[in-house]
Amino acid sequence: MGTRGVDNSIFFDIISETLTKEHATIIKHLSKPTQDEEIAKELNLKATIVRTLLNDLHARNLVEYERTKNKKTGWYTYLWMAREDRLEGYIRDYLENKLNKLTIDLNSEKDLITFNCSCSRVSFEIAYENTFVCPKCNEKLGEFNNKKIVNQLRTEIAKINSLLGAK
Ligand SMILES: [Zn+2]
Repeated sequence: MGTRGVDNSIFFDIISETLTKEHATIIKHLSKPTQDEEIAKELNLKATIVRTLLNDLHARNLVEYERTKNKKTGWYTYLWMAREDRLEGYIRDYLENKLNKLTIDLNSEKDLITFNCSCSRVSFEIAYENTFVCPKCNEKLGEFNNKKIVNQLRTEIAKINSLLGAK
């Protein structure tokens, strides 16, 4: 998978989707070890916010830190780094998970015959019970064409497969 490095845009998108864009921005800043105060300054964020975001990432093993004590002041300094070794696995897990969900959706959608009006989409049984008239809006229930949904699912699946296969 061509996913190495925190600058990778797939990784940025996936972190944005699974966490937030702020998390993705933080991790993008950690291609080299950086102190949390520095990140805060560079991104114009409060240090407490940066620390919260870092802790979220740390809980997912996506960053690590080195703590050093300043002998004069007794204060601790935290130097944060992205865990490049974990990024690829994180992306792969995410993509495989998504692929499973999309495949389940596709399989149930593929041979599904449903009916719709402007307010709902219902099964054949429900349409039949209501003599093909929607009980809510009184419109005729016509057969729903799900070709677009099926094609969309197929396209997404193909995209993920190529990402996973492009090792
Ligand atoms: Zn309706």
